[in-house]
Amino acid sequence: MTTDPLSREARIMILAHGLTIAEYVLRHFPDGRWQGDRCGCPDDRCTGHHHDANDRCSCIEVLAVEALEADA
Ligand SMILES: [Zn+2]
Ligand SMILES: [Zn+2]
Repeated sequence: MTTDPLSREARIMILAHGLTIAEYVLRHFPDGRWQGDRCGCPDDRCTGHHHDANDRCSCIEVLAVEALEADA
């Protein structure tokens, strides 16, 4: 499990949705190695493309909700 690249904010967001970091990472990268962006989006160029560096990532919010609904 390699979750180091995830930012603190991303971790807080994941946990706030009732997921564990491991659950979130494994959902996007089945080998357990996070290769997405620091902000928590599985697209490694999210910051600067999906949103500005100063803005919070809305992708992770959507993805966390989706992950929860998929498990329900
Ligand atoms: Zn994104
Ligand atoms: Zn992002």
